[in-house]
Amino acid sequence: MRIFELSSEINRINNSLDVRRIIRQIKNIGEIMGRKVAINNEECIGCGSCADMCPDIFEMNHELEKSFVIKAEGGDEDCILDAMGECPMSCIIWDD
Ligand code: SF4
Repeated sequence: MRIFELSSEINRINNSLDVRRIIRQIKNIGEIMGRKVAINNEECIGCGSCADMCPDIFEMNHELEKSFVIKAEGGDEDCILDAMGECPMSCIIWDD
């Protein structure tokens, strides 16, 4: 009975702190911070969406009709994730 009570108490604490969610978020942040963003230029169709959304990170080369990364690290991760989501070719990637 005491083991059951102890187990219930641990579960209650875990649930109240939502430890697993916090650990997952920390892990995600760590993964994002350790990565560099890149573009698979063979796939890029030069729509310019990424450069419009994150001009500090991506730049459109109109002659080549391709976008390029100008700041691989230290960019706004939320902006990068939004640009990834909007890229019609899904060619914005994390370069491990
Ligand atoms: S959003 Fe994708 S396809 Fe469009 S320019 Fe950027 S990398 Fe290229």
